[in-house]
Amino acid sequence: MTVRLAARDLTFRYDASTALLEHWSAEFHAGEVVAVTGPSGRGKSTLLYLLGLMLRPASGQVLLDGHAMQARRDHERAAARATQFGFVFQDAALDPSRTVLDNILETTLYRGERRRDRVSRAEGLIEQMGVGLRRDAKPGQVSGGQAQRIALCRALIGNPRVLLADEPTGNLDPASSDVVVEAMHDQASRGAAVVVVTHDPVLVARCDRKLEL
Ligand code: ADP
Repeated sequence: MTVRLAARDLTFRYDASTALLEHWSAEFHAGEVVAVTGPSGRGKSTLLYLLGLMLRPASGQVLLDGHAMQARRDHERAAARATQFGFVFQDAALDPSRTVLDNILETTLYRGERRRDRVSRAEGLIEQMGVGLRRDAKPGQVSGGQAQRIALCRALIGNPRVLLADEPTGNLDPASSDVVVEAMHDQASRGAAVVVVTHDPVLVARCDRKLEL
């Protein structure tokens, strides 16, 4: 199996507090959906930020397709985030001043793609997720569950090689959860490594593997 993303010997702490991770290692394969579980406050979201190159560890490495990303300059890490990663934040983190469609298309700019080439893919994703919204709706008009699925559309629009999702089914009814799980497996079947932080036992059961922090 191809190792898409790897953590090698990661140690991380916020400020002078005790280390949340100490010499922590794991491998995430292309084609697999991995659940990360553990008690609240254990550092699951922090781990996603480290894997997604948004935080730097005190020591250790994150490797993308075998390439060590820690020593890279900020602009290289930002470019990797824009082109290789999709991230679903726990609170969806949509921009309330922009439409649903503009939120989803936001990252196309960073990848140097033309917006109009991506509109039909964005509309297809909205349809697939069953969000049931007009594309010109604003995030202030959507429910928490809709916001999560919009955030997933945004994460998927660039066809990422790594998809990192923080409690993506937290606000969803079973039918909507099902759609989200399917979309994550779809992305894995395109060769992505999918890492999902969750407390939801139904979601854990549908992942290929579970890692406990
Ligand atoms: P989990 O996702 O497992 O609930 P988090 O990664 O959100 O855990 O948080 C792990 C610990 O780190 C918690 O004790 C939290 O309060 C602390 N923490 C999170 N973010 C920060 C931050 N930016 N600065 C300092 N401490 C933080």
